[in-house]
Amino acid sequence: MIAPDRKSAIQHLGDLIASSSRAVGFTGAGISTESGIPDFRSAGGLWTKNQPIPFDEFVASQEARNEAWRRKFAMEDTFRAAKPTRGHRALAQLVVSGKMNAIITQNIDNLHQAAGAPADRVIELHGNGTYAVCLDCAVRYEIEWVRERFTQTGGIAPDCPSCGGLVKSATVSFGQAMPEEAMRRAEIETLNCDLFLAIGSSLVVWPAAGFPALAKRNGARLVILNREPTDLDRQADLVVRDDIGDVLEPFLAA
Ligand code: NAD
Ligand code: ZN
Repeated sequence: MIAPDRKSAIQHLGDLIASSSRAVGFTGAGISTESGIPDFRSAGGLWTKNQPIPFDEFVASQEARNEAWRRKFAMEDTFRAAKPTRGHRALAQLVVSGKMNAIITQNIDNLHQAAGAPADRVIELHGNGTYAVCLDCAVRYEIEWVRERFTQTGGIAPDCPSCGGLVKSATVSFGQAMPEEAMRRAEIETLNCDLFLAIGSSLVVWPAAGFPALAKRNGARLVILNREPTDLDRQADLVVRDDIGDVLEPFLAA
């Protein structure tokens, strides 16, 4: 059902959380917009400015790598300044209190961890943008390390000094393989939960978008909290089309 207003949405959500013992949170870019990081698909979102660079282009072309890093550095100050939102904090509290077993996130901004959710309870389906890795030898590089070389060379994306491989932010691009361990853990948590809260995702990016439907098929209650409708709304026990921070604020402990 679609919640008719905010008050009943909060009431209904509170009842579902109270009667759950193994909840799972599933988040998309919408939970972070309050922190100043734009999402992809809203008006003015990142998508409307730049189509993402697919993985095969990144690998095939030095120019695509230069452009990928240029965009990354252009957004870097916004990401660095971002603080966890009310939504991040409410979910972190649910995890710490033992109500929520895990947070499965499509986000790469590290804000669930920054809000106090234990890192081993946060499952990152699309990686983490706060560092970089060599695609060949998997050595980790800090973003600052890449930025220094990029700046020194007038905008050329650096290769890995130890093996010559390509250095990419530790995120999953379109066309890039999903991280196996994260996918496996996300499936286990989804199948184990009794309440699945999908928050701030347009639910169009696959395979991530498969988890809410899987939870529902497996007998969990499904809540979709998102400003805009999603294709899965019909299957949800509760649909809340409202602002995430406003709806989750009452779940923050004083
Ligand atoms: P999306 O942009 O496709 O969808 C975000 C949804 O959140 C939209 O439907 C929008 O209406 C809703 N929304 C935005 N702010 C809201 C608010 N305050 N209250 C309620 N709803 C709100 O995002 P997605 O589903 O996560 O897919 C985009 C992909 O881009 C993801 O895979 C993610 O990895 C990546 N991404 C990540 C970040 C980040 O880490 N913060 C930012 C942009 C994109
Ligand atoms: Zn390497």
